[in-house]
Amino acid sequence: MTITAVGTIAYDSISTERGKRNYILGGSATYFSLAASGLAKTNLVSVVGEDFKSSHRALFSKNSINIENVSTLAGKTFHWEGFYDETGNAETIVTDLNVLQSFNPILTDSSSRAPYLFLANIDPDLQLDVLRQMQKKPKLIVGDTMNFWIESKNSSLWQVISQLDFLIINEGEAQLLTQESNIIKASHYILNKGLPALIIKRGAYGSLLIKKDAYFAVPALPIENVTDPTGAGDSFAGGFFGYIASPTAFTDLAPEITFKKAMLMGTVMASFTVEHFGVEGIQAVSHEERIHRFRTLENMMQLINIS
Ligand code: AMP
Repeated sequence: MTITAVGTIAYDSISTERGKRNYILGGSATYFSLAASGLAKTNLVSVVGEDFKSSHRALFSKNSINIENVSTLAGKTFHWEGFYDETGNAETIVTDLNVLQSFNPILTDSSSRAPYLFLANIDPDLQLDVLRQMQKKPKLIVGDTMNFWIESKNSSLWQVISQLDFLIINEGEAQLLTQESNIIKASHYILNKGLPALIIKRGAYGSLLIKKDAYFAVPALPIENVTDPTGAGDSFAGGFFGYIASPTAFTDLAPEITFKKAMLMGTVMASFTVEHFGVEGIQAVSHEERIHRFRTLENMMQLINIS
């Protein structure tokens, strides 16, 4: 089944312990759609500038990602510059919104009727705009955000959150959003606003699915060569939502089990992304590679057969 996803397409300049790259393809919608593409069809809603390369446009098409709803506007593509310290913490150096500032998404009829909606990290006012354009209430709405929008568009962001089924957010962002340092308290603060469930991403420490009365934890896959953490969260979201929207997801499983397995697939897709700079690790993952890491993670989480 199809996911309509709104988010950024970016040129990123990234500095990590492993080196530096300038103006490489990135953006929340880019990582999300590449991670989801092997699992479900994705309609991308985004904007690029006149500088956007045709080879990058071709990469989306090669991965069967529908880019009919990607506008090209006069000006430059969104640009983000980030620096990661030795512990993997990101610091934003520059956020050049560029064409994002004049973007008004207009969804095609079929995108506005998709059964699944993902609101990737982008201006919450654009997330609200896309929500308003959905002609049929989606079966599931999942959203993401980051510090930049928590600080600059707080009230729009809370309006978005109130309409989500799942919020996917990292630990530091949940603390910033709620002003609570304890992550369980922060989660309950968000859940008390009416959201059914949330997923807290904890980088190398894995992720947590939190509902009012239930917790589920998934460790990260053990990766020796973490080259560039950029896009790990968006790739997690792509694997998670791609699994839910894949044709076989709910056929023989209870919804709760599907959501748990989807968290494993999110973890798997994030693991491919962090091994290389930019989208290099996620742009051509085979079915076999995906399944191999999924089984590895399942085995890591197995309680039986342990003496
Ligand atoms: P992640 O590492 O998964 O949190 O996402 C990294 C991606 O988010 C990068 O490719 C950036 O281009 C993109 N990004 C950075 N800042 C923003 C922002 N303020 N809004 C939307 N996307 C952003």
